[in-house]
Amino acid sequence: MAQVFDGKAVAARVLGTVKAEVEAARARGVTPTLAVVLVGEDPASKIYVGRKRAACQEVGIAARDHLYPQGLGEADLLALIRELNADRGVHGILLQLPLPAGLDEGRVLDAMDPAKDVDGFHPYNLGRLLAGSPTVVPCTPAGVMELLDHYGIELKGMEAVVVGRSRIVGKPLAHLLLARHATVAICHTRTRDLAAHTRRAELLAVAAGRPQVITGEMVRPDAVVIDVGINRLSSGKLVGDVEFDSVSQRASALTPVPGGVGPMTVAMLMRNTLLAATRQAGLA
Ligand code: NAD
Repeated sequence: MAQVFDGKAVAARVLGTVKAEVEAARARGVTPTLAVVLVGEDPASKIYVGRKRAACQEVGIAARDHLYPQGLGEADLLALIRELNADRGVHGILLQLPLPAGLDEGRVLDAMDPAKDVDGFHPYNLGRLLAGSPTVVPCTPAGVMELLDHYGIELKGMEAVVVGRSRIVGKPLAHLLLARHATVAICHTRTRDLAAHTRRAELLAVAAGRPQVITGEMVRPDAVVIDVGINRLSSGKLVGDVEFDSVSQRASALTPVPGGVGPMTVAMLMRNTLLAATRQAGLA
């Protein structure tokens, strides 16, 4: 049976460190502050935003809500982003994605001050990551790396396969693994034979957004498997992109859903917000 990586426990440790550093920043007159922007009424987004706000409260980061359940036009959203860019009391901007249909995510992200882009999605921050000198690293991939480091996984020379090539998970994660000297393949919907790739992986990270698309026979014996997916089945059950039972028979280690990558993502957002605040205040 695979070891189950405890994302909740590792995230709690990270949050503990962030909390102490937030206290130190506050003692020097800087209250790290996160603007939370949510447009529309996507139920999953509302849950994620709720968790992020709870984490802010836990570590002492001030959260300022900009919630638009009725929607917001793109021009108004762009104006809000510019206003938050200019507000010296706001250190980080969390723009919860996905945006409702009709709003261009790329254009809105482009408008954000890269220094306040605590999700690390702005082209400047993604470019720095690609260039090998990251400034802000996207939270989910950063959380995956933190988890791998916590459990002492030696990435150098490892055959790594990332399933998914999104801007927010797959692509940045592949680059972080590459920077740590893994040999990385990226699979996606047009990959001809997914199982042929996944079976070669010593490290398999899955961010496809397809419930249980990875089954036991697709996994190399003793692989380390990171399940980024969060999918709600019609029964209401929350599952990952990996079929937990069959994969845990083959893998040496596996992240659960929930309780794996999810809590790590939130913890990394807190760390990124703290970093943004200390940099902007000249404390870092
Ligand atoms: P996305 O839809 O933007 O991208 C999915 C990627 O997977 C695409 O590149 C697509 O080509 C690939 N893909 C889809 N089906 C595939 C298949 N059958 N075979 C191979 N490749 C396939 O999704 P995303 O935003 O990257 O998120 C992926 C998953 O991770 C979702 O379930 C999302 O809810 C979850 N997620 C979790 C966290 C977290 O904190 N744990 C954070 C972000 C996203």
